[in-house]
Amino acid sequence: MSQIDPHLFVIFGATGDLTKRKLIPALYHLMQDEDVARRCVVLGAARSDWTDERFREAARTALREQGYAEETVDAWCTRNLHYQCLGPEGNDYEGLRERVEQLERHRNLTGNRVFYFSLPPSIYTQAIEGLGAVGLNTSSGWSRVVVEKPFGHDLDSAQRLNERVHQHFDEDQVYRIDHYLGKETVQNLMAFRFGNALFESMWNREHIDRVEITVAEPLGVGGRAGYYDQSGHVRDMVQNHLTQLLSLVAMEPPASMDADAIRDEKVKVLNAVQQPDPRADVALGQYRAGTMGGEPVPGYRDEPDVPADSDTETFAAMRLNVANWRWQGVPFFLRTGKRLPRKLTQIAVRFQSAPVSLFQADGGPCVPRDADCEAAPNELLITLQPDEGFDLRFEVKAPGNSDDGSMPLETQQLSFSYQDAFGPVPDAYETLLRDIIVGDPTLFVRADEVEASWQLYTPLLETDLPVHSYEAGTWGPDAVDRLLPTWTSTGR
Ligand code: NDP
Repeated sequence: MSQIDPHLFVIFGATGDLTKRKLIPALYHLMQDEDVARRCVVLGAARSDWTDERFREAARTALREQGYAEETVDAWCTRNLHYQCLGPEGNDYEGLRERVEQLERHRNLTGNRVFYFSLPPSIYTQAIEGLGAVGLNTSSGWSRVVVEKPFGHDLDSAQRLNERVHQHFDEDQVYRIDHYLGKETVQNLMAFRFGNALFESMWNREHIDRVEITVAEPLGVGGRAGYYDQSGHVRDMVQNHLTQLLSLVAMEPPASMDADAIRDEKVKVLNAVQQPDPRADVALGQYRAGTMGGEPVPGYRDEPDVPADSDTETFAAMRLNVANWRWQGVPFFLRTGKRLPRKLTQIAVRFQSAPVSLFQADGGPCVPRDADCEAAPNELLITLQPDEGFDLRFEVKAPGNSDDGSMPLETQQLSFSYQDAFGPVPDAYETLLRDIIVGDPTLFVRADEVEASWQLYTPLLETDLPVHSYEAGTWGPDAVDRLLPTWTSTGR
């Protein structure tokens, strides 16, 4: 790990779900490195009237639930975790400042601070202004503020939030999290594209027929209905995660691996994506009751806290065009939803067919674009979840001859599995927290990037579109066929 400065890691929302499930385990894991453990002190904050000991107990329970050994967990919690109540209104920032300074004195810290907002998005502005009001935005060391998704709910709110943040923090102090970017396989997209001349030389409209990005999950809305029903799937998944994947697949090679060089290219390609025509290029859906894994599951409207007449989409598919020299004319299809048949995050790149196929029964050449030829196009499947790896599909001659005298072809694949090559991959939050601590913003979303992304989906979010019903456990509503009847990843 790069150089770790001594620092205080303040978690706002320390009593919440994300802290328990992701932040505490990621911090614990990072601090298995004794160097980090000595240099990082964690201060949880929230409205609940908890003590240090109550916070430690919650952390111990969370870590034990994830299978960590009791003794090391106990010692770590006692040594590294503290808690400060922000009062019933969550506005006691003066008390927070005093505690921060006291801890820094006692633990010989030098004024380096992370402020992690694991808060309801409606509280982000209050927290930013609270920090600014008591001077916690400046210190004798560095200060970094980490903002969880969602960053705004449309272009206007994202711009206003950026303005507020920039009143108190410079852009290079702000780390906007999209945890997809912390996944090894997402980062590997860059290694794959820019470390291998083989594929990059074909990564354009001359050779690629279409790109499909699928993010499917079998789960329903769970306990998040209060937030989700207001937000919907385009805001919850497309604007951030799928758009990040799109920009990594479509961006130009950066001049260097410098954070801004990479983020400049991501913004550039996002600015080249044309706004989809909501009626022609988009299909939305909402799951109804169905059967999954042999068990009946309720429809979205029957989930707890979802209004019985909700029109919120739990599925979105769309066709996007990247209007630049590399991609003009190559459709990018995005598809994501809840209660789909299985967990799958995959980018499927379909290459153009051979210009002429020689393998028909009559021996005659067949032009793939005009006819149903024997030779299938090459496909590259980049799987991010659940079995991270690549599969490259190509045609081979099957042994023997066909009865009709044609050469029998069969699709085979070359495969690479991340797990087989490297063993278990680190959790995305661990990667991202480490980057925050060492001050590497490469995997975080810059202000202009978040705004470019909201800009792209504004017409869609402002259009009253039909939300088609689909049965839980299927690949979405029939309306998707209008965009793309057969998806490479799943055949539907
Ligand atoms: P929770 O509702 O579980 O937790 C919210 C936390 O914020 C609680 O600790 C709550 O504690 C605190 N809080 C609420 N209001 C205030 C206030 N006015 N002042 C100070 N603290 C307050 O939410 P999650 O942990 O699930 O999510 C947190 C953030 O992370 C959200 O922005 C969410 O979108 C994002 N996120 C969450 C994911 C997850 O898996 N949970 C995944 C990706 C993103 P108290 O009531 O004690 O004040």
